[in-house]
Amino acid sequence: MNPDLAPYVGAVAVIGAAAVTWAARLFPAPARPVEDKPAAAVDELWLACHTTRCAHMTTRHDRTPAGLVCRSCGNVTEVQP
Ligand SMILES: [Zn+2]
Repeated sequence: MNPDLAPYVGAVAVIGAAAVTWAARLFPAPARPVEDKPAAAVDELWLACHTTRCAHMTTRHDRTPAGLVCRSCGNVTEVQP
């Protein structure tokens, strides 16, 4: 590279970096909505679901009067009192 061009190349690099940050400021990432995640419900359990659909994976279950309902496949596991 011609040494006489070095200052110009440097200037182009600086201006280029400034242009990139300026463009980034023009399009800020959308603010993430604050997750108003409720505290874990008491009647929500993570249990292994032994249906073929869930393949023994641990899935979220809801405690209902009928039993524990898998949120993934809907299988109801009766709970012995
Ligand atoms: Zn399931």
